[in-house]
Amino acid sequence: MPRTLSKQLMKPALICVLSLLTACTTIPSTDTENASTPAIKDERAEKLSRQKEVLKRFFIAVVLREDDWRPSEKETGETFEEYLASDPTLPNPDRRTIYIQPIGKFNAEQKRAVGLSAEYMRAFYSLPVKLNDVIPLGDVPAAKRRRIEYRNNIQIRTAYFLDDVLPKILPDDAAALVAFTNYDLYPGDTWSFVFGQASFSERVGVYSLYRLSDIAFERENDKDRLLTRTLKIAIHETGHMFSMKHCIKYECLMSGTNHLAETDRRPLDNCPECMAKLAWAMNYDPVERYKKLAAFWEKNGRSDEARSFREKAAAVQRTEARQ
Ligand SMILES: [Zn+2]
Ligand SMILES: [Zn+2]
Repeated sequence: MPRTLSKQLMKPALICVLSLLTACTTIPSTDTENASTPAIKDERAEKLSRQKEVLKRFFIAVVLREDDWRPSEKETGETFEEYLASDPTLPNPDRRTIYIQPIGKFNAEQKRAVGLSAEYMRAFYSLPVKLNDVIPLGDVPAAKRRRIEYRNNIQIRTAYFLDDVLPKILPDDAAALVAFTNYDLYPGDTWSFVFGQASFSERVGVYSLYRLSDIAFERENDKDRLLTRTLKIAIHETGHMFSMKHCIKYECLMSGTNHLAETDRRPLDNCPECMAKLAWAMNYDPVERYKKLAAFWEKNGRSDEARSFREKAAAVQRTEARQ
């Protein structure tokens, strides 16, 4: 299996794939490489630049271990200022709802993870998020499914979702339509599997929960781990749908990952650079957003995460009070 999809295999719209070996491959679009740091454009961006400085102490520099994701030569990272200058895909007044579409059958824990992902995304992106009713898988053409020997498993080709299913149900006001499924996915014949794939230009993505449960690996299951992994993959992939590149500076939710152990080490939040990008893209107040994220974790019994978000809210608030 190749470490990356060859360009011949990839549609230009493909921006991110997760798999066993190459957990998340970003294909840079032709107009987003920035050789120099542009000047900051406006007052709001200036304020975010100031706010991101006080958040640095909550994050550590990226730690790369053996077998971890490594940025390719083309992945140079991206500062907040470079993101501003890159003409990113952003929600607009006509397209600002993220739709979550569950497809196929889910067990109770997976349903919970999908439902909470919708809630977390609402707080994380500060955009309306709508959780659609579950729809059946439908008839998958033979060319878009296969049986793999290991665990005698049927896999569905991601193109079935991205090309056949999702474009037909994409609402006009969707900033993104994200499908969750419990079917195992593959993006092409040379790949063993992928966790998810998103189309940058078409506003659709599909993510699989199939391999996120420890049950799938015949180990004792941990429902918090399933939830955490689902949230991380959903947030990371959707970040790419808003033109965010892989983060190479911090241990960050937008850092690439090669395997689940690495995903497990990543924080449930974006680093200061990536937070500022989102805040600018979604036009949200970082303090209010951190409070919403803290409330999410309080409600869901994770006091460590709640405390971390409350501290970030307080840090930004103190900085602004001094201005
Ligand atoms: Zn990625
Ligand atoms: Zn980051």
